[in-house]
Amino acid sequence: MRLRNVKYAKELIHSYPDYVVLKPKNHKGKWRDLFENKKPIQVEIGCGKGKFIYESGLYNPEKNFIGIEKFDSVIVRALEKLILEPLDNVKLIRFDATHINDIFKENEVEHLYLNFSDPWPKLRHSKRRLTSPQFLEKYHHILKDGAIIDMKTDNYALFEYSLMMFNQSDYFAIIDVSLDLYKDLPATNIQTEFEMKFVEENNAIYYIKAQHKG
Ligand code: SAM
Repeated sequence: MRLRNVKYAKELIHSYPDYVVLKPKNHKGKWRDLFENKKPIQVEIGCGKGKFIYESGLYNPEKNFIGIEKFDSVIVRALEKLILEPLDNVKLIRFDATHINDIFKENEVEHLYLNFSDPWPKLRHSKRRLTSPQFLEKYHHILKDGAIIDMKTDNYALFEYSLMMFNQSDYFAIIDVSLDLYKDLPATNIQTEFEMKFVEENNAIYYIKAQHKG
């Protein structure tokens, strides 16, 4: 990424604090106040360029959506979507979800989406996988009882690993699995940027739905 682009991203992010929440820790336990409503909070970790979180907000006005992405240079693309066509039920956070417990309180999140997360294939990086036991423990603290985690991936190794981690966890029960989501695609499915590319290439999309046991 060229320096000029990084500067552009940073400047744009700081110009739209209504869309990109600059101090997310200040809103821990108070996200609904920020949205100025009582609608349930849905979170996507690793929202990338924001197609999924934007369209989720567009088609589900009865819910609030928060997209978390760790890179300015990527989240700026999600911000551009909101600038072009504003939505008052979508907010973005430029943040590393490793510290997600610093920004959400117990029972604050009702639905978590993990879409095409980085697979981190090396064993020494396994803690960074968004379905590692370390992350599942963090999610346990912020999700309501009965909350759902929806995970889609094109990576079989990450899918298999995630099945094992959910299965071994005391906090989650797997309630649905697909080895080919597009064989029986739910009408409510919203494609992500990565998903569009993988579907075009005829890659299978693996899917896990897990429920928080509380
Ligand atoms: N979900 C999008 C999609 O399906 O098009 C993007 C997928 S991309 C492979 C994964 C994204 O997750 C990247 O943009 C990466 O920066 C982000 N990411 C990975 N780990 C993260 C973390 N710990 N916190 C926030 N974002 C993260």
